Amino acid sequence: MQIGKYSLGIGDRFGHQGEAQLRAVTKAAQKGVEIIPVWNKSNREHSYIHSKPTDTRIEADGAVLALDYKGQYFVDADHINLSNVQGFLSSSDFFTLDVASKIGTLSTPSDIADFKASCAKYAGSLSIPGIAAPFIISDQLLEQIAQKFLAAMVEAGGIYRFIAAQKGADNFVTEVSIDEVEVPQTPVELFFILKMIGENGIPVQTIAPKFTGRFNKGVNYVGDIAQFAREFEEDVLVIDYAIKEFGLPANLKLSVHSGSDKFSIYPEIARIIKKYDKGIHVKTAGTTWLEEVIGLALAGGEALALAKHFYTSALSRQEELCAPYADVIDIKQSELPSALEVVNWDSAKFANTLRHIPGQADYNPNFRQLIHVGYKIAAESGTHYTDLLKEHRDLIGSCVEENLYDRHLKRLFEL
Ligand SMILES: [Zn+2]
Repeated sequence: MQIGKYSLGIGDRFGHQGEAQLRAVTKAAQKGVEIIPVWNKSNREHSYIHSKPTDTRIEADGAVLALDYKGQYFVDADHINLSNVQGFLSSSDFFTLDVASKIGTLSTPSDIADFKASCAKYAGSLSIPGIAAPFIISDQLLEQIAQKFLAAMVEAGGIYRFIAAQKGADNFVTEVSIDEVEVPQTPVELFFILKMIGENGIPVQTIAPKFTGRFNKGVNYVGDIAQFAREFEEDVLVIDYAIKEFGLPANLKLSVHSGSDKFSIYPEIARIIKKYDKGIHVKTAGTTWLEEVIGLALAGGEALALAKHFYTSALSRQEELCAPYADVIDIKQSELPSALEVVNWDSAKFANTLRHIPGQADYNPNFRQLIHVGYKIAAESGTHYTDLLKEHRDLIGSCVEENLYDRHLKRLFEL
């Protein structure tokens, strides 16, 4: 099972926006660019919302049926490991093997020695076509890379074989993710990680490294854009070379996690994948939930009141809500409006503060990030929330579609 060249990971915490999301990719197809939708949901998200992996499958199939969509689509068991993959086996056909927590787990000295011996042909100076300066491969570098990543990739092999034994190797797409760590992987590290992945027999089609810079949830990229572009381009070239060297799937491509709203690097991503005619997978996260809150705010009345309640509750429960996301949010306390202030806002003021339009005077990324992590409050609101989603389905759906198509796909695929 091979995933198409361009794909978009779409999250939908409450499972109501599948059709609106699918409309966005369909619109791109009408412009001649096929983008494969991949509905992704992690175990953590399921546990907060009290949803099950089968719910994501039902949503995806339902949207496909409703829109009579004929293209390829997938349901991603996002960030799974051996402890939680079981529940995803029947409903998913895309698996993101998350081995970030195994990075730095020591391998045995003999495994490390074997790996280093297998790298002998790269020792000294390694030239990768397209990359100007050769990588200097010292014994010490190989030692460090093996100590850091070998155990993690062995683990990925174990998870892959577990899934393949149950589902059949041809019935799913495999991604390996190592993005949820503090230190980005360099292009040369990526090269040897791919070697390990090849040796562990994993037919990896997408790989999610940790890129340089901050990929905070739901807001723009923070970091050195030129450095990101340089490393991203080298990663693309490393993958190209690794495919041939290690016999990896020819369609192997980069996966950008927390890729939603990274508007300042989209032009770089677009330029580089076009330059080398490469594919890309961009995982969005939480951006659809934020559009639901924007839609509620625009609807006014009771719906606006609930949107305000989400914010004021999140404000008083910040510590609890932010803790699981500490590494992927940056909220400036002093920039958060007070509950008293927000209570008096009208629909436009609330929506403009939340909606991610860089340069919009009211846009407040701190407000946006706090609501981003506040979806637990919506889950607690139960049917009060979901009934309003249903009541304002068209308005909210148009917000979701516009966000994915106009702000994301247009920029990423130069539509
Ligand atoms: Zn991730």
